[in-house]
Amino acid sequence: MENGVILIDKCPVCGSKRRFVEELAKTEKEEGRMRRGLGFCTHIIRDSVVDREMVNQMPYGTEIPLYEVWMDICLGYPDKPCGNIYAVKIVKDTATKKPKLEMPGDQMPGQFNQN
Ligand SMILES: [Zn+2]
Repeated sequence: MENGVILIDKCPVCGSKRRFVEELAKTEKEEGRMRRGLGFCTHIIRDSVVDREMVNQMPYGTEIPLYEVWMDICLGYPDKPCGNIYAVKIVKDTATKKPKLEMPGDQMPGQFNQN
């Protein structure tokens, strides 16, 4: 893992490097409808690894591990479609616990501040 990023450059089932959404994005870039630096995949899963019952007891400033997984669909070879959905990029990150700012919209109907 380099800088918290794992790249998986080929399908773990068939070994193809062709991916469905990535190829759609390549076409859009070639046609000039998309910036070259953008990456695309079917979906990204981003979440934290935290015990949600215990996080309230942790002090502000506590580092919480985060992960991000980019998924895409293997195209396989033209004569042998694969269709395997797999992680093409895995990112390990962290977030810092911060106090939640109370916004007026956060209040329940009927609630009000007394001061
Ligand atoms: Zn495959």
